[in-house]
Amino acid sequence: MHGSKAHGIGSTETVRHFHFAIVFEMQDELAPEGESSANFFLFDYLEKHGVTCYTGAKMLEINDDGIVCEKDGVRCEYKGIQNVVLALGSKPENPLQAMLEGKVGKIIVVGDAMKVAQGIDAISAGYRAGYYI
Ligand SMILES: Cc1cc2nc3c(=O)[nH]c(=O)nc-3n(C[C@H](O)[C@H](O)[C@H](O)COP(=O)(O)OP(=O)(O)OC[C@H]3O[C@@H](n4cnc5c(N)ncnc54)[C@H](O)[C@@H]3O)c2cc1C
Repeated sequence: MHGSKAHGIGSTETVRHFHFAIVFEMQDELAPEGESSANFFLFDYLEKHGVTCYTGAKMLEINDDGIVCEKDGVRCEYKGIQNVVLALGSKPENPLQAMLEGKVGKIIVVGDAMKVAQGIDAISAGYRAGYYI
């Protein structure tokens, strides 16, 4: 990717690995749930490397020569993009719960299967589940 024009969408961490990058983030701020100390160095890095970051910019479409997003209710098109990196987050994946329902006594769902969060949240929920069984 060296020297290429890349557009990271969603993850401000991901964009560190590209030389020319634009971040499109649909939330109103970058990494709102990031650790403040990690964010400090991340934002410093982005600023020093001249990375343009658009917040409140929702990605709608990727086409042959660019992307389309919506910012402040206005549809915007960015052309001449060579690479698009999607780093859009995660949502819980928990098909086992429905399969086990009625077959076992009690089901406690913890961690990212319940709600995608930080490692410490999964550890803490696992601890509480074990404690109260
Ligand atoms: C890129 C990234 C960076 C992150 N960085 C941080 C960070 O810096 N600090 C932090 O605190 N958190 C971080 N997190 C979040 C953290 O990794 C998760 O919150 C945490 O791992 C959730 O733990 P978990 O046990 O619920 O799920 P997981 O760690 O995902 O473990 C679930 C396990 O279940 C296994 N599994 C799934 N289905 C089955 C099945 N049918 N049978 C058997 N096994 C199965 C999977 O293979 C997996 O190993 C990060 C997450 C990502 C994706």
